[in-house]
Formats: sequence, C-alpha cells, structure tokens
Amino acid sequence: MDKVLQMLQLQQQLNDSTNGEDWEKGVTKNGKSIDWKRCIYMECAEMIDSFAWKHWKSISNEPDWDNMKIEVVDVWHFVMSEALRDATVNFRGSIDELSLTISQMPSYRALATDEASFAEPEVVMTKVEELMFDSLKHGPFHLEPVMRNFFELVRMSGLNLTSLYRLYVGKNILNQFRQDNGYKEGTYIKVYDGIEDNIVMKRIWEESGDELKPRELYMQLQRRYDELSK
Ligand code: MG
Ligand code: MG
Repeated sequence: MDKVLQMLQLQQQLNDSTNGEDWEKGVTKNGKSIDWKRCIYMECAEMIDSFAWKHWKSISNEPDWDNMKIEVVDVWHFVMSEALRDATVNFRGSIDELSLTISQMPSYRALATDEASFAEPEVVMTKVEELMFDSLKHGPFHLEPVMRNFFELVRMSGLNLTSLYRLYVGKNILNQFRQDNGYKEGTYIKVYDGIEDNIVMKRIWEESGDELKPRELYMQLQRRYDELSK
C-alpha cells in the first residue's frame, strides 16, 4: 500500500481515538477546540530552534539535525490532520482520494525518488517561515503550497519518503501502544530490560527491513512487552 495513504489512515485513527470521532468539526470529545494551523506554526518555531539563530547566544553552535527531524515528524502529524479535516468538512473526497492527490504532487514524487538535499540553515529557516506563513493566514486551507513547503523541508532535513515513513509510523504506533498499555493510568513500563521503548521500537524497525507493516510493528512491541511481565 502507498506510504502516504498508510500515514493518513494512521493519523485519522490516532485523531479518532484521542480526540473523538467528530474531531474534524474542530472540537475534541472533551469540548476543547482544535486549531491545527496553530499546532503547525508552533511546531515550526521548534524547528527554528534546531538552529543557532540567536545572534546574542551560543552563536557558534552546530545545527541540531536530529532534533530538526523530530520536529519535522511532529509537524507532519498536524499537516496531515489539517488536510484530513479540510477534506472532510469541505467534502473533498475520501482518504484514498486525498492520498492520490498528494502522491501526484511533484514535491511528493521528489521525496520518493530523489536523494535528500541538505540545505544551509538560513535556507531551511526561510522555508520553515514559508510554512508558518501558510498556517498563520486566516481563511481557507490550501493543500498544495502547504504540502510542497513541507516536503521540501523534509528533504532539506536529510530525510526521504522511507525515513519519514519510518519515523512517523514508529512514533504513531508507539503512542498508540503506550495508550493501550496504561500510559494515562501510570502503569506502563517504559524501560524494557534496561532499554527504553523508543529504542526497542527503533531496533525492531532496523531488524525487519523496509517491508514491516504498522500492525506487525505493534505486535512485535506487544510480544516484547509481554515477555517483561513473565
Ligand atoms: Mg470521524
Ligand atoms: Mg515538537
């Protein structure tokens, strides 16, 4: 199955389970209002913080590319959520149709076929600010420029479609797994035999190659987690 379709479906499930089935209307099941555009620009600010942008402090620090990648994945949750919301409330079609539209964009294709293209911090920050500008504007959501700016940022951060997919699915599945195993109640065991769960998850990915499905990742986590309580 197509990677973007899988990621959109996982995001839909995550939003349904954490915010309630009607989250697209802009309110959670707890009555809290949702503003995905605000989520996008606030996470974008965290991207900027991956670079030594302050002219008065730690001026010679190296860019923190590892953190930048984490923020890219954070922003991706919110970009997909806004696209899903827009598709639902404006009757633009199913998740399948949304994924088809996205997968035909040249910026998405470049992600799938091209090598990453690391950019200078100033160039990356300018690109981040374009994405912020898209999400600060009031009025209708425009899918194409938001996706294009986001996918260009993905490549500039040294990621491609495969690595974005792995980082995203890994984080999504781990969040779901934690929730299903007592995270809210405080009974979840985060360290498996001395190894933190996100490292366990990463190792499962690395041992399994490209073809691991989200569901299999979840089941392997479950198997290792169950061994702990034996
Ligand atoms: Mg729904
Ligand atoms: Mg973040």
